[in-house]
Amino acid sequence: MCEVPVSGQRRVLVTGGSGLVGRAIERVVKEGGGCEDEEWVFLSSRDADLTSAVETRAVFQKHQPTEVIHLAAMVGGLFQNMSHNLDFWRNNVHINDNVLQAAHELGVRKVVSCLSTCIFPDRTNYPIDETMIHNGPPHSSNFGYSYAKRMIDVQNRAYFQQYGRLFTAVIPTNVFGPHDNFNIQQGHVLPGLIHKTYLAQREGTALEVWGSGTPRRQFIYSLDLARLFLWVLREYKEIDPIILSVGEEDEVSIKEAAECVVESLGFKGQVVFDTSKSDGQFKKTASNKKLRQYLPDFTFTPFRQAVKETCEWFVANYDTARK
Ligand code: NAP
Ligand code: GDP
Repeated sequence: MCEVPVSGQRRVLVTGGSGLVGRAIERVVKEGGGCEDEEWVFLSSRDADLTSAVETRAVFQKHQPTEVIHLAAMVGGLFQNMSHNLDFWRNNVHINDNVLQAAHELGVRKVVSCLSTCIFPDRTNYPIDETMIHNGPPHSSNFGYSYAKRMIDVQNRAYFQQYGRLFTAVIPTNVFGPHDNFNIQQGHVLPGLIHKTYLAQREGTALEVWGSGTPRRQFIYSLDLARLFLWVLREYKEIDPIILSVGEEDEVSIKEAAECVVESLGFKGQVVFDTSKSDGQFKKTASNKKLRQYLPDFTFTPFRQAVKETCEWFVANYDTARK
């Protein structure tokens, strides 16, 4: 994975380094995924509030990165998005503009930012591919987050056109794993279900799955995503983004995802579906054809195993987990 010839020492700055994806990249680097000529710096919001241009420029000047993995964002599940579209738009537009402009001003060689498959048009053909980002309005539930994220792609193209900068982006599907946000109201479906199942088991109550359980999602394990991020950082040369996803055949329903959590935690109680709650987008099935053309042999962790590992991490770290 370290075959790219580089001159001199490289310093990779990871914004959002304390989050789900950042902690996974940190672990993969520590477990041997790093290169000898790479120094890694993982930032949290305590190092700099990236909604502030002044703080962003200062933290970039302090660390003088040669490359940047840009993960920092206001991130949340369906229900947090539905009630905070303005905050998602404003925070993320400011963070992204500040980070990309600071990287430009400091002459950073490469920036890899993070989009999401939930930013694609709601009315679309399936499977979704990388060319479709701007083809129509996103789902109404998360339009603030989606439009802010789409603008990263616009800025990447503009930085290349005007200054020849290699600023690109990846497009992961729903991510989950250790260090996720297990807050039930704010977080995504899998950490929410894991936390709810844990509590239902402890209190002898039913597990309440929100919505009908029929929507479909492709989930990617954060550690698989981390390995792919390292490949993109070192090898991927396009400005056009790339979808990082398991295959279309690995898409599961929310009901199947809930069953997997129930099995992993050994929950024996009742499972009920609260259909008064929103289903959100029915599906956003993405194609990983482009990824497969580059990496035909990449192996994803089986969903069941990844859910089990995440459940075990949550139980073992219950006191300190984000919740
Ligand atoms: P996360 O766990 O919520 O972590 C967010 C990170 O951003 C944290 O390190 C947080 O720092 C940092 N951050 C937030 N606001 C900041 C600010 N104003 N200034 C500086 N840092 C700030 O998110 P994640 O799930 O790892 O997401 C990482 C990236 O993947 C995001 O760009 C997200 O849009 C994208 N993505 C996520 C998913 C998913 O399912 N989770 C799916 C597709 C794409 P603190 O820890 O200090 O708060
Ligand atoms: P999305 O993939 O961007 O829509 O975001 P989520 O990860 O929040 O997934 C939302 C889907 O999971 C919807 O179909 C919800 O109805 C369903 N869901 C079921 N239970 C939960 C839960 O406890 N939390 C969340 N966030 N979604 C849930």
